[in-house]
Amino acid sequence: MPEHLLFPQPVVGRFAPSPTGPLHFGSLVTAVGSYCLARQAGGRWLLRIEDLDTPRVVAGAAEEIMRSLAVLGLEWDGEVVWQSQRISAYEAALARLRERGLVFACGCSRQEILASAPHPGEEGPVYPGTCRAGLAAGRRPRALRIQVPDEVVCFADGLHGPVEQCLANAVGDFVLRRADGLFAYQLAVVVDDAESGVNQVVRGADLLTSTPRQIYLHACLGNPLPHYVHLPLVVAPDGEKLSKRHGAVAVGSARERGELLWQALRFLGQEMPAGLKNAPPREILDWGVTHLVLDRVPLQSATSTST
Ligand SMILES: [Zn+2]
Repeated sequence: MPEHLLFPQPVVGRFAPSPTGPLHFGSLVTAVGSYCLARQAGGRWLLRIEDLDTPRVVAGAAEEIMRSLAVLGLEWDGEVVWQSQRISAYEAALARLRERGLVFACGCSRQEILASAPHPGEEGPVYPGTCRAGLAAGRRPRALRIQVPDEVVCFADGLHGPVEQCLANAVGDFVLRRADGLFAYQLAVVVDDAESGVNQVVRGADLLTSTPRQIYLHACLGNPLPHYVHLPLVVAPDGEKLSKRHGAVAVGSARERGELLWQALRFLGQEMPAGLKNAPPREILDWGVTHLVLDRVPLQSATSTST
């Protein structure tokens, strides 16, 4: 069966860049992959700017990303969602989780957690549950955390197949609102995806270990679960994940735009017709929408010749 028939209908996909710099080849690969899979299923493709982590946001970067997407023909549906304007939605979700008795205040500093963590988790020290039963006398609340059960979360990734993680062992009770008052990425993503009706989450494999936390939050909030596909990352020659540090994609000329899209689809393992390399961007995207096959996408992250 063609892969897209396995997705719930109608498909709603999305691209959700952080405006910490211009569009680079790694984020372009994710944009192209999510765009082609959503459109292939006849679905919508939304754009969300993840500008919640205000200390990291670079002024003008969101607008520059949007301009690059537009000139590449990666046209999104509907209004752009800005996370910085959705604080009340995150507060409402937090209140619902509190009502369920799942949220607690944590007074631990990063140093204390590091010192008391039973073992390193998949993303730093595992929270040891110090404040779960209430703050010790004299402790000031810092972050808000959610209790996680000692159960394994399983999901079927569209590319990686079955994935499982025990939240208690891998991350522990995790942060919903940070000590600096900002809502955590995990909560914001879940609230936004659910409210936008996103049911096909296609993104970089660096988020594979975040997905069980997001699935748990969706379940706690009573949301339907999206389908997940985690695409390979583009890494720099030194093995580091490609980031803004490695430079923006060049979208100045039509030739550059077409070649970029061609390279992005080739990075995703697709058998690109050589004659298409100098075609207009629209033609290459249309080829991707028609021909992208998930089975050809490699699991492993890799460097790219076009970086
Ligand atoms: Zn604590």
